[in-house]
Amino acid sequence: MSSKYLPVENPTKSFWLTAEEEEFSTYRSSPELPSEADTIVIGSGYAGTTFTYFLLKEQGINPSSVLMLEARNVCSGATARNGGHLKPDLYYAHEKFSAKYGAKGAAEIINFEHAHLEAMKELIEKEEIECDFVLTRACDVHLHPKSVNAAISNYKSMIKNPYVTCKKDVQIKFGEEAKIISKVEGSPVCLTYTAGHLWPYKLMVAILKKNIEKGMQLQTNTPVLSTAKLADGRYLVKTNRGEIICKNLVIATNAYTASVEPKFEGKIVPIKGICSHITSSDPNLKTPHLTNTYGIRYGGADGDYLINRPDGSVIVGGAKRHIFPFKQLFYGVVDDSTLIPNTKEYFNNYMNDRFYTWKGFPEVADYVWSGILGWFSWSWYASCFALC
Ligand SMILES: Cc1cc2nc3c(=O)[nH]c(=O)nc-3n(C[C@H](O)[C@H](O)[C@H](O)COP(=O)(O)OP(=O)(O)OC[C@H]3O[C@@H](n4cnc5c(N)ncnc54)[C@H](O)[C@@H]3O)c2cc1C
Repeated sequence: MSSKYLPVENPTKSFWLTAEEEEFSTYRSSPELPSEADTIVIGSGYAGTTFTYFLLKEQGINPSSVLMLEARNVCSGATARNGGHLKPDLYYAHEKFSAKYGAKGAAEIINFEHAHLEAMKELIEKEEIECDFVLTRACDVHLHPKSVNAAISNYKSMIKNPYVTCKKDVQIKFGEEAKIISKVEGSPVCLTYTAGHLWPYKLMVAILKKNIEKGMQLQTNTPVLSTAKLADGRYLVKTNRGEIICKNLVIATNAYTASVEPKFEGKIVPIKGICSHITSSDPNLKTPHLTNTYGIRYGGADGDYLINRPDGSVIVGGAKRHIFPFKQLFYGVVDDSTLIPNTKEYFNNYMNDRFYTWKGFPEVADYVWSGILGWFSWSWYASCFALC
């Protein structure tokens, strides 16, 4: 057990968590923990929640034998603190992936990412879930010559890959057209392709409620402190509220995985990311609505991402240039109760500074929050920035 990797108390409040219902956020199926379950799922984010959704559809599964354990309130990890962007990477990593996995392998990753959009749409429509889901197009803007060249070169290599089935979805535009489509003055090139955005917390809560209606058990504010495999093949799961024995154990703890399984220390590294919600500072003025979602690359991996919400506000994440100098404050860190120096200021006047359709519009970043991502080694992370 490594308690230093457990989620912390009092996380920053994300815009998404304004939909939190006090009663459900601390839901417990029973006052006491059960002593046994067939399957224990640790974590109530995208991974744990969607896993249980599909598990309960399996033949012969007794929903009440499935128990989800969550360290904090319902879905309070990265899923409730992200950018709400459903964005496949259809080209930018193609050369890297091809070099590593060959053309077939690179195509498999790209096709898999692309297939998620349809799968998400299908799930949301089938279950009739209100989560502000919008299917749209992503617009990637590249503002640094290195990033522009990398984008063009990756695009060209991707369209030559015979195994990429979604290549026709990607369109590249240059010069004036790129500026008009992207609405970013300094953009010599832009690439657009199908993407989506949604309110991730609402989607997860809706699925969890459906699972609970079927009988699934959920215990919030119950951090798992350790797990052990017993001689008979079952697992002993120790929590701060007692011990449970189960036949199947699913660990969906993302950045916090070393809190449950110490062997993942240094393999899945928690890093702190920053996001914001930007809207009109004048309640009588409607924002100049953008039609695309965005990836804005200043160079290499030093980029921001942005979604345009159906109410006209935007969610912007990134600020990596401000984060990067503070390695000790974001790398290997699970503390999402604070921000990183200068990141709040980074979002001041953000839209005015980038989009000419927002010039002169009164904007305010009314929410800025942090969240913890599961990441890799420092050398990998730093190599992305070496591109900048
Ligand atoms: C700032 C930020 C912006 C992002 N932007 C985007 C984006 O726009 N688009 C996108 O696709 N992705 C984005 N991501 C990444 C995305 O949010 C994650 O990949 C995704 O949410 C991971 O889901 P998960 O279920 O694996 O993890 P999480 O949502 O983190 O869920 C893990 C859960 O496990 C619980 N847990 C952890 N340890 C324990 C324990 N010991 N006992 C019990 N429970 C435990 C946690 O409390 C948490 O609720 C972003 C992430 C961040 C932080």
